[in-house]
Amino acid sequence: MQNKNGIKRLVKNSCAGYLGTKHGIPNYCCLQDSPCVFFAQDDGLPRCIYFENGVLPIDEKLEREYKSERDTGTEFKTAQPRVNCQKCGAAFSAHSNRQKYCEKCRDKNANEKTKLRMRQMRKKQAWCYA
Ligand SMILES: [Zn+2]
Repeated sequence: MQNKNGIKRLVKNSCAGYLGTKHGIPNYCCLQDSPCVFFAQDDGLPRCIYFENGVLPIDEKLEREYKSERDTGTEFKTAQPRVNCQKCGAAFSAHSNRQKYCEKCRDKNANEKTKLRMRQMRKKQAWCYA
């Protein structure tokens, strides 16, 4: 962690769980009932959901560093490519480059496919019972 000191400072100043030395435990966290994970001696990247959601967003710069180092993958990846829907032309962010339709049209397509399948099934059945 490049900026572990920044994290520690933020925890000390802003984390509701951080109580300093308590019950003889230094850097006591009342949420974990143990020392705050960010004050551990090792160099790893500990996780604390409370900190990530409730404290880290206070410091945008630190949050960016933290997320990029952790490489959280999905949520904080660079912006998804903007694509225009092939059906209605609306711009939307594609999750993959195979995605051609916006969510609305995709749902519609799926519905139409289902309808078609149902119709075919009914046709077949009618033929069977004829
Ligand atoms: Zn569309």
